[in-house]
Amino acid sequence: MSKIDYKLIIERQIMECEELIHKSELCDSDVKAQSFLFQRLEKPRIDVAKSRINNLKEALKRIELDRFGICKTCKKKIPDRDLLSSPERIFCRPCSGYEVKNYEDTV
Ligand SMILES: [Zn+2]
Repeated sequence: MSKIDYKLIIERQIMECEELIHKSELCDSDVKAQSFLFQRLEKPRIDVAKSRINNLKEALKRIELDRFGICKTCKKKIPDRDLLSSPERIFCRPCSGYEVKNYEDTV
């Protein structure tokens, strides 16, 4: 996989997240506030989509900086199969116990 391939993949995933958020914003906000289903099901998905967009944008920056796909802990290359499913990944599998904790400083 080349950097350009990953860039396209990441940009598409950002677009998908933005679409999800946009669709939700089209709903009436009063209906949303009162809707148990929205609070329970849709809102967590939107929140995930929003933070995912940030993480994906960080991944784009890492492509520009030539740091994409390198594990932050052991500095080894993260396998393509892992990057394809989640290009925002910053740790390889053996190191990924730290994945959630360290998501803040991704660049
Ligand atoms: Zn590692």
